[in-house]
Amino acid sequence: MNYIIFDLEWNHHSARNRKKYKKYNPRTKGFNEIIEIGAIKLNEKFDIIDTFRVFIKPNIYKAINHNILDLTGITDEDLKYGLDFEKAMTEFIKWMGTDYYTCTWSDTDIRVLKNNFEYYFAGKDIRDIIFPFIDIQKYCMDLLKEKNQISLKDASERLCIQLKDEFHMALSDTKFTFEIFKKIYKKENIQDYIVNDFNNMYYNKVGEVTNKEIVGLHLNRICKVCNNILIVENYFFDARYKMLRETLRCDYCNRVFRRNTSLRRNLNGDLIVKKRKNEE
Ligand SMILES: [Zn+2]
Repeated sequence: MNYIIFDLEWNHHSARNRKKYKKYNPRTKGFNEIIEIGAIKLNEKFDIIDTFRVFIKPNIYKAINHNILDLTGITDEDLKYGLDFEKAMTEFIKWMGTDYYTCTWSDTDIRVLKNNFEYYFAGKDIRDIIFPFIDIQKYCMDLLKEKNQISLKDASERLCIQLKDEFHMALSDTKFTFEIFKKIYKKENIQDYIVNDFNNMYYNKVGEVTNKEIVGLHLNRICKVCNNILIVENYFFDARYKMLRETLRCDYCNRVFRRNTSLRRNLNGDLIVKKRKNEE
């Protein structure tokens, strides 16, 4: 099996800033539009056997956000002769081949790729392309015993990796990721980091939550005092805090509880309980 380490750069404008958009509609509002793909292909011995790089012609935004320009150095001129997303993706998929693990630094690139893929290729399933997947940031955080997300730059420094390349350029970021991967890779534990589905990958936003979804959550509504089943007096979903706020009543011991449940959504679209807190 080969390893495909890839990195995406994307452009973004505020959802309210309508004049920055070529195409403004509910699907494109606040969209992260991919503008570059950089990738390297490794064989099992960790030799780099090929590289891939493509600029993508923008379709949603008119121009590069100046913050993105500062970060990536990608200009509007660079993108002028880029490929359309469909064409770039088709080339990329062809280049990836058949037997491979995809690897990225954090799973953010997967979320963004998924959104772009769904926007342009309705009906095609991205899972066929990205799994099995290894999040090298996660692997690295475990090794460094780091609880918070660590940047590629910080991780490179801590692992004494020095390259001439700069950060936040798709192809050089894959090289840093590669050097980190090479350094931390262990045959004994790599299996623990291979992901084959979206179940434990989450969106940043929960989005709209329906009543049906709330009713369908597996919530244990048992009175902590008398172990009887609690009655839901009322509830609402607090979108700002991604929190289900419930008032529960126990008819046996005549108590009222307020309970907050943090929710999140995995990339399958399922609503999941993150954390619960009881208050009397
Ligand atoms: Zn009770």
